[in-house]
This record gives sequence, structure tokens and C-alpha cells, in this order.
Amino acid sequence: YPGAVALPLEVRGGEAPGRCMRQLHVVYQTVELPETHQMLRQTCRDFAEKELAPIAAQLDKEHRFPAEQVKKMGSLGLLAMDVPEEYKGAGLDYLAYSIAMEEISRGCASTGAVMSVNNSLYLGPLLKFGSEEQKHKWIAPFTAGDKVGCFALSEPGNGSDAGAASTVAWLDGDEWVLNGTKAWITNAWEASATVVFATTDKSKKHKGISAFLVPMPTPGLSLGKKEDKLGIRASSTANLIFEDCRIPKANLLGEQGMGFKIAMQTLDSGRIGIASQALGIAQAALDCAVDYSEKRMAFGAPITKLQAIQFKLADMALALESARLLTWRAAMLKDNGKPYTKEAAIAKLAASEAATAISHQAIQILGGMGYVTEMPAERHYRDARITEIYEGTSEIQRLVIAGQLLKAYQG
Ligand SMILES: Cc1cc2nc3c(=O)[nH]c(=O)nc-3n(C[C@H](O)[C@H](O)[C@H](O)COP(=O)(O)OP(=O)(O)OC[C@H]3O[C@@H](n4cnc5c(N)ncnc54)[C@H](O)[C@@H]3O)c2cc1C
Repeated sequence: YPGAVALPLEVRGGEAPGRCMRQLHVVYQTVELPETHQMLRQTCRDFAEKELAPIAAQLDKEHRFPAEQVKKMGSLGLLAMDVPEEYKGAGLDYLAYSIAMEEISRGCASTGAVMSVNNSLYLGPLLKFGSEEQKHKWIAPFTAGDKVGCFALSEPGNGSDAGAASTVAWLDGDEWVLNGTKAWITNAWEASATVVFATTDKSKKHKGISAFLVPMPTPGLSLGKKEDKLGIRASSTANLIFEDCRIPKANLLGEQGMGFKIAMQTLDSGRIGIASQALGIAQAALDCAVDYSEKRMAFGAPITKLQAIQFKLADMALALESARLLTWRAAMLKDNGKPYTKEAAIAKLAASEAATAISHQAIQILGGMGYVTEMPAERHYRDARITEIYEGTSEIQRLVIAGQLLKAYQG
């Protein structure tokens, strides 16, 4: 209607955007963290509260990459958290990474996605499988926040079945020649390099896949359109199309045929990051629900007085806090050099399903205000959903968990 007016948000029962971050300083008592980790958590929390939460809705609406914020995160050491200082990283552990990922995602889940891809999917495999020369060349420029990397495993024809890669690479003199299309690549539009997986020997199936380092942009590599996504809309997702893309022979990461192993080990660690991203989204949704329900009046009292609402809040806290402990356990196992494939899959499964359930209930608690963009609850719900899909769907996590469990029983 021409001249239609919007009622002030306060009148509608809402608050100014970013308001739900009020709870930041009061929530979560868990196991005592080392002092360094507590300080890191506070730094990330302050950053998320001041720099991310107030603009997260706008970034989401405009599908805008948070370049300025990513740069600041680089200067805080958040883009290369477990990279040793000799390669210009922060030299911290995975527990620290998990804590930081949660806090950043609590402020803005899209920024969390950018951070997780650079840390665990791009720098992770380089750190573990790169030669000394590759580490110096491909890690250091990606630590400060002015350059980000990406990870190209999925294809239009296969995601969960990553071993069925149809992208190929062959050696022509001193160069690898890459052909094929990689799909759904996070950070594709902003990335300055990618780790890409391609088959070098089809007869060996997944054991014929190799990993390569490709600078971006480079001749023979083009970008697909930006996907118009349900959530994490401030991070870009697009195809990478390789057409006779030539890269130096030295850009093979690890040995020929080692690609599948590199991808799977990278995803083991990456899942701890996605679990932490899910925790951040879930915590933001819970903050929002508590904040709203303390003020919203129904039948003469705040709705927090209703047992139905209290039970919802209790179930949300139960799901969130148990998922957080599972995530920290997986991170600590990795930090202590113990096997953690099963525990990382359990953490990702628990945290991502908790994020979906908690953000679903947050909308219910907000009623109509949960359904509109003036309040962040609907964004948390949209953002939560991806954590059940990327870096292995919930079905794939269950397969990993069952596989590891049965292996252990069989001795
Ligand atoms: C926003 C976004 C960002 C992404 N970022 C990246 C990225 O940076 N890099 C990258 O390489 N990929 C990325 N992906 C791809 C993502 O990892 C895949 O979408 C995911 O692995 C699922 O693959 P798929 O979409 O092909 O689904 P499919 O594998 O086709 O699965 C379809 C359905 O079948 C189920 N299913 C498949 N196999 C089995 C099985 N064996 N048992 C039981 N159920 C099964 C799945 O769980 C799912 O429910 C991204 C995806 C999205 C949406």
C-alpha cells in the first residue's frame, strides 16, 4: 500500500539489530579453559559483538563478502590459527580454533564459513602434506586476511561420493593440465588460490586421485555464477571450471595418488571447525530466544514464566552444551595427537543437528517476530542448515561413525 508505515521494532516486540548479542557476557559456564583460551574467547567475542553482529543481517541481505572484517581477523591471527609462527600463523591449537570459530560464527555465520575454509580446508592440507618450499610459498600470504584460499573437491556429479571425481589431470612435460568442473566451492569468487583434486589415473579409482595447488586467477580456470543460497549468503559459493588449465609440475601437493587421503584427512579436521560454526549459530539463536522471551508479555507476564517456554529453553541448552563438549573433545584429541575421525564426525553431527533444532525452536519462541528479517532468528535458522550438508552430510557422518565403531569392535 502506498504510504504504508512500519511500526517501530520495539512496538512489534523486537529490538534493534544485533541486540540479541546482549547475552554474550553472561552465557556458558563449561569446563575451565586454559587462560590463553579464555583470553582468545574474550577477544573473539568482543570482535564478533562490535564488528560482526551489527552488520551480519546487511551482509546476508546484500550477499556481500566481509572483506574489511576478514582483514581485521587476519591481523588478530584468526585466519591461520594452528599454523606455526615460522609460516606467519598464530601457532595455536585446534581447541583455540574451535573456540574462535564458535565466537565468530555467533556474530556472523557467513564470516565463520570464510574463516573455516581458509584455516582448515586450504591451509590445513598444505600444513600437513606440503613440502617446505610449498609451505613458504602457499601458506604465508594467506595468513594476514588480504588473501583467502579455497578447497575444490565436490563436483556437479558427485559430492558425498568424492572418490568418483571426473576432473582429470595429466602431465605434459613440466606442466600438469587440468580439465573438469568443481562445484559448490566456498570463497571461490574471492580466493587467490585453491587446493583442487583431480584424477591422474582412472584405473585406480579413488587411489588415482591427486591434489594440486592452483593460483587464482590463472589462464584456463574460470568461475561459475555465484549460487543464490538459503543461508551463509555473505560467503560466495561457485563452480570452478578448468579448461586446459596448466600449472607447474611442482604444484602437486603430496604424492601422486595421495589426493583422496589428503581430502579425507582434511575433512576430519574441517568437521571440528564446522561443528564449532554450528555451536556459534546455535548459541546466537538461544541468546535471541532468551532475550526476547524475557521481554515478551503474554497473558499478563513475560513468556519466560510459561513452563512450555522454559522447557524449550532447557532442551536448547542441553543440546548446545553437550554438542560443545563433544566438539572440544574432538579438538583436544587432535591436539594430543590421538585418532579423532569418529569423534570429529560425532561432534559435527551433534552440533549441526543441535543448531538446526535450536534455531527452529528460537523461531517458535519468537512467534511472528521469528519469521521476519527484523529479528535475527530467521537468519540463524537459514544459516544452521548448511552445517548438516557441507564437509559431509549428516548421513555421511553416521556412516563414518558406524564404520569406525564397528572397526573398533572387530579389534
Ligand atoms: C553452501 C555450500 C558450500 C560448499 N562448499 C564446498 C567447498 O568449499 N568445497 C567442496 O569441495 N564442496 C563444497 N560443498 C559441497 C558439499 O560438500 C556437498 O554438497 C556435500 O558433500 C553433499 O554432496 P551433494 O550435494 O553432491 O549431495 P549427494 O552426495 O548427491 O547426496 C544427496 C543425498 O544423498 C545422501 N547420500 C549420499 N550418499 C549416501 C550414502 N552412501 N549413504 C546415505 N546417504 C547418502 C546425502 O546424505 C544427501 O542426503 C558446499 C556445498 C554447499 C551447499
